Amino acid sequence: MSVGYVYDPIYLRHDTGGHVESARRLETIMAHLEECGILPRLTPIKPRAATIEEITQVHRQHYIEEVEQTSKSGGGWLDPDTVTSPGSYEAALYAAGGTIEATRAVWKRHVESAFALVRPPGHHAAIEQAMGFCLFNNIAIAAKYALNVLDVSRIAIIDFDVHHGNGTQDVFCREPRVMYFSTHQFPHYPGTGSIVETGSGPAKNNIVNIPLPPGCGDTEYLHVFSRIIVPAVQRFKPQMIMVSAGYDPHWADPLAAMQVTVTGFARMTGIIKRLAEEFCSGRMVLTLEGGYHLAAQAASVAATFRMMLGDTKIDDPLGPSRRTLKPPDISVLIKEIRALHRL
Ligand SMILES: [Zn+2]
Repeated sequence: MSVGYVYDPIYLRHDTGGHVESARRLETIMAHLEECGILPRLTPIKPRAATIEEITQVHRQHYIEEVEQTSKSGGGWLDPDTVTSPGSYEAALYAAGGTIEATRAVWKRHVESAFALVRPPGHHAAIEQAMGFCLFNNIAIAAKYALNVLDVSRIAIIDFDVHHGNGTQDVFCREPRVMYFSTHQFPHYPGTGSIVETGSGPAKNNIVNIPLPPGCGDTEYLHVFSRIIVPAVQRFKPQMIMVSAGYDPHWADPLAAMQVTVTGFARMTGIIKRLAEEFCSGRMVLTLEGGYHLAAQAASVAATFRMMLGDTKIDDPLGPSRRTLKPPDISVLIKEIRALHRL
């Protein structure tokens, strides 16, 4: 089965100036995928603008208008970290719409799995507030589309970005058809994501937060996957797995203090792919979130695609961590989360 990807130069028109979340992130990824021969092996999926009706499943109308007006009147800051330019509104509509189209292509089996290479990213965007470089919550909008339009009845969202996906959690904290997993450095931006935030009402225990101390590397992340995420997904039995793929847990990333390697991201992708094969006929949709070391992110995205394609050889040009942090012992934390979620 084929592997799809979404990309469009419209994503470069969200011009953030000298900001760390810049168009160069996507340009570097695309150049690297071309260079290492991966791009011709992938099936392109054409993005479109998400409709206002699709976006209002997640965000309030007045907030969508605020993003549009700020962007179209020349751009400006929507929050201390989040800036817009004249091209941002359309790029944001296409980032949400691109993730929707990736989801639709996977559900309809036009491709087995897909990765939406979009920006601005989405997982911090709250219901009526831009946050953390995010305007519209791409993965939440696409998951709502899957539930409401495609009639998918159970979705697992796995968010391995180094920051907690507060926006995604807010959208789904009372939604029993969605299970949300987040691994993130803690305490760290945006401050949410403690283990006791587990969802409420009919979605009690559908939010699984895994707040990690700084210094965690491949061993700690793989331990979290095998002891928490895998058994919880196996119990939930999703029909589709969606991934907030953020590459800022990489050891070279300037915004965080984790020690994951390119190989580590490949191994996490391999675990998620096996879960998708076990329960979802392979249906797996990824969307790009953070990742601020250009070369580390590009190599990690390439490694992710290689795993999706079934390659066995992964290139890790950056190698093992050169940070000097001693990996923390997270066995007590894992035990605590397993007990809380009865795993
Ligand atoms: Zn992040």
